[in-house]
Amino acid sequence: MAEIQLRNVGKRWGSFVGVHNFDLTIADKEFLVLLGPSGCGKTTTMRMIAGLEDATEGDILIDGKRVNDMEPKDRDVAMVFQSYALYPNMNVYENIRFPLKVRGIDPATHDEKVRRASAMVELDDFLHRKPAELSGGQRQRVALARAIVREPNVFLMDEPLSNLDAKLRVSTRAQIKNLSHELAVTTIYVTHDQIEAMTLADRVVVMKQGVVQQVGTPTDIYDTPANTFVASFIGSPAMNLIDGEVQNGTFTAQNVKISGINAPNGRLTLGFRAEDAELAPAGKGQINAPIYTLELLGDATMISVRVGSALVSVKADKNFRAEIDDMVSISVPVGICHLFDGQTGARIQ
Ligand code: ATP
Repeated sequence: MAEIQLRNVGKRWGSFVGVHNFDLTIADKEFLVLLGPSGCGKTTTMRMIAGLEDATEGDILIDGKRVNDMEPKDRDVAMVFQSYALYPNMNVYENIRFPLKVRGIDPATHDEKVRRASAMVELDDFLHRKPAELSGGQRQRVALARAIVREPNVFLMDEPLSNLDAKLRVSTRAQIKNLSHELAVTTIYVTHDQIEAMTLADRVVVMKQGVVQQVGTPTDIYDTPANTFVASFIGSPAMNLIDGEVQNGTFTAQNVKISGINAPNGRLTLGFRAEDAELAPAGKGQINAPIYTLELLGDATMISVRVGSALVSVKADKNFRAEIDDMVSISVPVGICHLFDGQTGARIQ
């Protein structure tokens, strides 16, 4: 059992604020993903939980006990890094066993624990190999097994898939998801990859410049992003965002005129997802612009047009054929539009 509480946790180096006022309770057995662009404070937050970095503000509690002053080794957390940090001169078996030796666990139990952990990550047949004789994905699985073997209360994973190629990332991601279900241990996972976040998380924390932007289930974050930053970070492609002006319920921007918008007069950012809009007969849609680019996706064709400085995408049938610069008309159902404050970017509706 491990509930983690972060109470107004912050990290400052001189006047630079790395993490600001992080306040969240992570439930026992929850899989929490910290998501955000490079430098937003994800790793620092995780390192503070591990005890590898001191929090300069706030309290960190594990199972109700304040751990700010506790040594990393006493916190019962296991970390998996993007660089696998394996010992090159030890074989897989010895690498996985290493934490048991360091922690003085009864040697009589080692063999069974190592074999169970290696079976979980399907490395049974590689126990005698050295890290240099393994693929990147296999090395990362050794690192995972080395964390599993300790049977910690908390797993902390820092971009564990980022050194793997695209295909291995997908299969190792599925394996981590399956493992987390099997192990049922509180896990905090850092990534800048929104697909990883959406597929793995019970809840996602989206961060920007040290500040939490939104906490929610993947569905919450996808369906109701709290601001334009979250909207532009989640989804593939990201949400279309158009800066414009509302007057008496009509939103206008270059090449765009959408009526029936329920917002006060003034600057507004209007958002919608590519899959929620569709192509309309010539001149009948609310967006009319020349095609900027077309991408064949296999099951659909993604069409992008320029609207001011923004690119707006819409999914069309896979058999749709047109050329760059051909005019298209896009129909945007008003009911699926997301409205954000034109100045602050905060969600209005
Ligand atoms: P990435 O995805 O690139 O790993 P991140 O979101 O994990 O990024 P952090 O490593 O947590 O980001 O860093 C947050 C901010 O704190 C960054 O701007 C970074 O430059 C800064 N930072 C990190 N460590 C230190 C340090 N020891 N001294 C000063 N600033 C630091």
